[in-house]
Amino acid sequence: MDVRVAAKAGSCYGVKRAIELSKDTVRNRPGPIFSLGPLIHNPQVVAYLGKLGVQEIKDIGEIKEGTLIIRSHGVAPALLNAAQELGLNIVDATCPFVRRTQVVAHDLMTKDYQVVIVGDKNHPEVQGILGWADGKAEVVENPWEAGLVKARGKIGVLAQTTQSEENFNAVVETLEKSGSVVQAFKTICSATSERQKAAHELACQVDVMLVVGGANSANTRKLASLCRACGTTTYHIEEVGELEPAWFQGVKAAGLTAGASTPDWIIEEVKNRMSEIEEQNGNEEGMKDAVEVKAIRSGEIVTGTVVHVGQDEVMVDVGAKSEGVIPIRELSCCEVTSIQDIVKVGDQIEVYVLKAEDNEGKLILSKEKADAEKAWSGLEEALDSGQTVEGTVREVVKGGLLVDIGVRAFLPASLVDRGYVEDLSKYLGQSIASRVIEMNRARKKVILSRKAVLEEEFAKLRQELLTNLAEGEVVKGVVRRLTQFGAFVDIGGVDGLLHISEMSWHRINHPSEVVQVGDEIEVMVLKVDRDNEKISLGLKQVLPNPWDTVEEKYPVSSVVPAKVVRLAPFGAFVQLEPGVEGLVHISHLAERHVAKPDEVVTEGEEVNVKVLSVDPVEKRIRLSIREVYKEKQEREYRDYNHNKTEDTGDVVTIGDMVGDLFDKK
Ligand code: SF4
Repeated sequence: MDVRVAAKAGSCYGVKRAIELSKDTVRNRPGPIFSLGPLIHNPQVVAYLGKLGVQEIKDIGEIKEGTLIIRSHGVAPALLNAAQELGLNIVDATCPFVRRTQVVAHDLMTKDYQVVIVGDKNHPEVQGILGWADGKAEVVENPWEAGLVKARGKIGVLAQTTQSEENFNAVVETLEKSGSVVQAFKTICSATSERQKAAHELACQVDVMLVVGGANSANTRKLASLCRACGTTTYHIEEVGELEPAWFQGVKAAGLTAGASTPDWIIEEVKNRMSEIEEQNGNEEGMKDAVEVKAIRSGEIVTGTVVHVGQDEVMVDVGAKSEGVIPIRELSCCEVTSIQDIVKVGDQIEVYVLKAEDNEGKLILSKEKADAEKAWSGLEEALDSGQTVEGTVREVVKGGLLVDIGVRAFLPASLVDRGYVEDLSKYLGQSIASRVIEMNRARKKVILSRKAVLEEEFAKLRQELLTNLAEGEVVKGVVRRLTQFGAFVDIGGVDGLLHISEMSWHRINHPSEVVQVGDEIEVMVLKVDRDNEKISLGLKQVLPNPWDTVEEKYPVSSVVPAKVVRLAPFGAFVQLEPGVEGLVHISHLAERHVAKPDEVVTEGEEVNVKVLSVDPVEKRIRLSIREVYKEKQEREYRDYNHNKTEDTGDVVTIGDMVGDLFDKK
């Protein structure tokens, strides 16, 4: 087996510099030494530096003293300031190429450019550059996202250093279509593009390709995907222990490359191990059992069984001489975070044959293309007929969601639900039904609306409810909104109005005295206006009516406490209990003549009243304060007379009693 190493592979200038600066720091600086996050995206190197004494932290809040190494990705200025304020020594290992990008971002921002960064918004390098643009830059990953940027003036575009030129140019081209003046700064590091070019060239010449580097290294993953783009079986490994002899069975030439964060010693280890494996295999061709095989041609769609799910690819038995491989990028139209979410061993799936078996037995398959073939014809029909399509939400992107409906479809944020959605991430992984509102197969563009489906369901529900609701029916509801004149209550997808006058048996000034937004309540349907689609609800109707028991509680001639609630020219209204008011006529306010009620009572005053009559049907109670005084006087007179008679045996008149009272004064 011929083992070839890519012309450019492994540690770049920035990574080597960061490692050397770290080793220098260990040698020359006293006290603890920290790196904010892994110094580079390679676990073996991080472990090696850890042994030397460089401890990894996630947040500078974790430390109070010592030396902080800023890794080659760089950081935002706010973080540097915070480290300085903490009194930490700073060793800045930001790669000079990244630093240049930070300076460009800051410069563009201060010159009022709308800054657009082409890169991965979650990558620490991009996060740092964003900080240098005061957080005002927009990050786009591809031309499609660039198409969503709302141009506000002149645009300055720059790139994460590991971007491909092809993607950067395509983004710039898209932005230029917005009509704005676009200034492009190709801040792409040549180390990255050189490694990418060399890896791609080599991959196209060999039978199998090995890419060595951290699983968390974006540039290493990119190398692997470029190698796979040649149709060559590619394995991405972090260290030598992951090598499998079976990968090299029958292989004549194997290629080797490594990400920019992989040091030379790891590449050397892998290369040596590959040579050892070659010896072990001894070019032996395993004898295969004679099995019936079928001819598979490129471009056809066949059904197969998933026989292995790996980290980067899936093996499928389609009944051919060898098992077919679906590279991870050919699994789904959207980014795959976990292959297990897409397929499992034993699944029967349809696959599109990208590359039929050649002399070396390679069979490259695509699930994405097979799904897309099926999906497109169905989508055209769905657009015409208005039928819904089902899909799984795969990504939250700027302005909406990406939904896998066999092809990648965009669901704008404003069309996700009937109302505004604050956090779109809650839909991730969910299966949703939407309507296709726009599509262009040539441009692979599909726009969905879930709102359209929900609105239709809502309208249907409303219609059903309006049809089935009966006046007098008691239903459950949730208070959605309060106004001055009442509350809107959702009674199962439809809002009805609970007017303030129907909330309580007693007078209230505002609905909030009785209900609050979010309250679950029972209400009576008072009226259903099907023509105007309006529902009137009542709450007091499901509560006990105090007038039902007034005759028992307030019998005629009884004296009861009351509160003056309102004065009128003809008397005073008093409340016996919430919801039950009676009238004390002006002629019954006192024993003397009263010209105006406020001569004798005031609002809010507590008084005793005698019940003169009760009419629960008309909701009228006549009351008297005068009668209470009169009764009191008579009682006092009787008591007095009784005492006097007992003392003297004389009969006492009222005149005597009054005379006595004057004498006492
Ligand atoms: S890839 Fe380029 S920009 Fe990134 S650290 Fe290496 S030299 Fe610097």
